[in-house]
Amino acid sequence: MALTVEQLYEVMAQLPDPVFILSEEGDYIEYIGGIEQSAYQDGNPLVGKRLQDMLPPDKAAWIMAKIALTLATDQVQVVEYELAAAEVKDIDAKAGPQGMQRFEGKIAPLPSRYDGKRAVSWITRNITHQYALQQRLQQLSETDPLTGLHNRRYFFDHFPRLILEQARSGLIMLDIDHFKQINDRFGHQQGDAVLQGFCACVAARLRSQDLFVRSGGEEFLILLPGLHGAGLCLVAERIRRAVAEMVVEALPTGLHISVSLGTTEVLPGEAVDAVLARADEWLYRAKRAGRNRSAHCPPL
Ligand code: GH3
Ligand code: MG
Ligand code: MG
Repeated sequence: MALTVEQLYEVMAQLPDPVFILSEEGDYIEYIGGIEQSAYQDGNPLVGKRLQDMLPPDKAAWIMAKIALTLATDQVQVVEYELAAAEVKDIDAKAGPQGMQRFEGKIAPLPSRYDGKRAVSWITRNITHQYALQQRLQQLSETDPLTGLHNRRYFFDHFPRLILEQARSGLIMLDIDHFKQINDRFGHQQGDAVLQGFCACVAARLRSQDLFVRSGGEEFLILLPGLHGAGLCLVAERIRRAVAEMVVEALPTGLHISVSLGTTEVLPGEAVDAVLARADEWLYRAKRAGRNRSAHCPPL
């Protein structure tokens, strides 16, 4: 059975997500569907107006550029954008979702002309909840819950970009000394608290552009963009001393911890594995030399 034109229109009108028919000049030619009121304001009042008159100038210009791209390439474009009802003139902003919403738009070129103008259909879907969840999952996947530091995955993802921006950078690999004994003597919970205190102590000695992550149990990495030579050795030594002098609130008074550090310089474009292998070797040397010290790979 074929649908009548009326039935076809009924189906379109009942679409939960809205479809805008927009001309190449920015006219709202038609508004179809969008009946899911929890996700959308009613866009019907926009029909017959121009989006340049209804939206903030930067958003209108952005939409016009996407329409132009869709028509120029004759290809469907998929975009994401943010818009709040309060930014759009002439619609009832009080109904529907409040505050900034995130949308996915799919823009398709239309074959025929509308009043002599080329046009596109712009299907939009409110993805605010999914986007927030996606952001949350990403944050969880790259954050260590105990210390709040970023983790090894985050380090691997951001390392290439951070070192490319500098002629030379520095890397410090740290491993807390005899940490197993702390757990064995005082319990795992106290051990956790020591780890947290350690991280706060180290973080306080770093610049905002330094990347400090927990790479594993009691092992950490610090990437120091632009820092090398004597400056790098100095920072490592300062951290070592600060940790050794730190008052560890989770432990009996007077008990201190220590950390061993291996440092190396990093050249732009270097593979992360090669850099970590170098730092690991010098950390191992610091451990073997007696712990509570830093050992430095010679300048490259
Ligand atoms: P070394 O000086 O050679 O590094 O000795 P170490 O005892 O620090 O090294 P080892 O690798 O033998 O032990 C590391 C310990 O760190 C063992 C593990 O239980 C503990 N650890 C790892 N992650 C955590 C954590 O999240 N919390 C606590 N409390 N302990 C942890
Ligand atoms: Mg270790
Ligand atoms: Mg250790």
